[in-house]
Amino acid sequence: MPAEFKNEPLMDFNNEENRKKQSDALDQVLSQLGREHDLIIGTEKLKSGASFKSYNPSKKSDVIGTFQSANPEQAIHAIDVAAAAFEKWKRAPVQERANVLFRAAERLRARRFESNAWMILEAGKPWLEADADTAEAIDFCEFYGREALRYAERQPLTRIKSEDNELRYIPLGVGIVIPPWNFPCAILVGMTTASLAAGNTVILKPSSDTPATGAFFMSILQESGLPPGVVNYVTGSGASVGNLLVENPRTRFIAFTGSKEVGLHINETAARTQPGQIWIKRVIAEMGGKDFIIIDEDADLKEALEGVIVSAFGYQGQKCSACSRLIVHEKAYDSFIPMLADKAKGIKVGPATHPSNYMGPVINDKAMQSILRYIDIGKGEGRLVTGGRSLGEEGYFIEPTIFADVDPSATIAREEIFGPVLAVIKAKNFDDAVRIANDSEYGLTGSMYGRNRKHIDRAKDECHAGNFYINKKCTGAMVGVHPFGGFNMSGTDSKAGGRDYLLLFTQAKTVSEKI
Ligand code: NAD
Repeated sequence: MPAEFKNEPLMDFNNEENRKKQSDALDQVLSQLGREHDLIIGTEKLKSGASFKSYNPSKKSDVIGTFQSANPEQAIHAIDVAAAAFEKWKRAPVQERANVLFRAAERLRARRFESNAWMILEAGKPWLEADADTAEAIDFCEFYGREALRYAERQPLTRIKSEDNELRYIPLGVGIVIPPWNFPCAILVGMTTASLAAGNTVILKPSSDTPATGAFFMSILQESGLPPGVVNYVTGSGASVGNLLVENPRTRFIAFTGSKEVGLHINETAARTQPGQIWIKRVIAEMGGKDFIIIDEDADLKEALEGVIVSAFGYQGQKCSACSRLIVHEKAYDSFIPMLADKAKGIKVGPATHPSNYMGPVINDKAMQSILRYIDIGKGEGRLVTGGRSLGEEGYFIEPTIFADVDPSATIAREEIFGPVLAVIKAKNFDDAVRIANDSEYGLTGSMYGRNRKHIDRAKDECHAGNFYINKKCTGAMVGVHPFGGFNMSGTDSKAGGRDYLLLFTQAKTVSEKI
């Protein structure tokens, strides 16, 4: 049995040696930019005749790489290959499957700075955020490897004298893994490794904004001894190749993380039975958020300030768990807003390649235009306290932006903006704060700062969020420690990094033998 699971520590970039290693890895990855990447289907590397590029959002003229737009025949071919590989992989001993994950964790540790570098360059992640992403990916490999072993153990059943009864968790079949760009390593790795640890085979369709980070993980899997065909790397647009893969009658499950709109579309598409289909497809869909932090009248405002800044502006607010609604008790409101504005004004924004920049760019031009449009809407809905502008021409930089005096019904208080924009709402009292927090179609993360024990206990009961925190930030869930997933339109509450997660990638078979 492997040692008890422990979270991977984060890299200390105050250490000069680590800074040097990260800079060297950036240089090494920079020298690999612009390459053409093929589809990887079984043992074959394939071109498609049509391609697209991914770019560095800190310096939009830099091409990260060229990638294939898989055509429909190639998507079907990938399903054929994954279905054939399933016949063998589902019979592979669980220890062998778990070992692939443990080796992948080792390889990620060995190539950690390189993994970080791909994300710094392709996703615009500041160093610390990129490193946290790689560390979480390592955690998923270690955690799900152990979980596969646990689910393969004899399961507890009520025993009767005349029978030997067993409950076995067996895999589902061919799954489609569709991750977003914002955790291009951790979420991609988490959904892929959970699928294959449980004995399924996978078609991995990375986000078109971060396909190089996906290609990097494919190289890790190959180094870890994963048999060909168990994970197939198929790039292309979500709306064409992604949709086709979801629709195919031989697809058994879809593991998706992304926006509400696409998640709902996938859910509906997967629910329509296709001719020849012999199962109800399973959809695991984790979607958007409109996450909140409540500041109660007796909160430690300094502590709250640190938590709000990290939650709202860490990785430019581009986390599903990012705080985008700050709900402040009226007695704390007037003192907190100037503190918040001052701190936000001091945030350094610039290329993610420079470790001194706290905020990097947003992911692409479409995101930038959408965020700026919300900022325009915000100007009519609240008082602009700081920020509001885009910065520079080289990359997609936006100032940390705060609107105060926002009504809970305002557009910027209801819709997911997915950028560095925070709406501050004044609450009359604690009851009002809880009501505002819950008045959302989403229910992903939330947090509360305060010291009143009765209020804390009530918030624990009443705040409707899949991940709820007290006196700490609302981002940064840790594998095994804070199983992660949201309520309502935030998704299926799959609780990634928790002990129920692997179940979603299996079906239970009861075997009863008379003795
Ligand atoms: P997105 O929905 O635009 O894309 C997600 C993935 O779906 C991409 O790989 C895309 O190519 C694919 N896709 C798009 N259309 C498709 C279709 N018709 N069929 C199949 N696949 C399709 O999301 P995004 O912009 O990549 O990510 C940001 C969103 O993800 C935000 O809403 C954020 O809140 C959410 N998110 C949620 C979580 C969570 O755990 N709840 C975590 C991270 C991100």
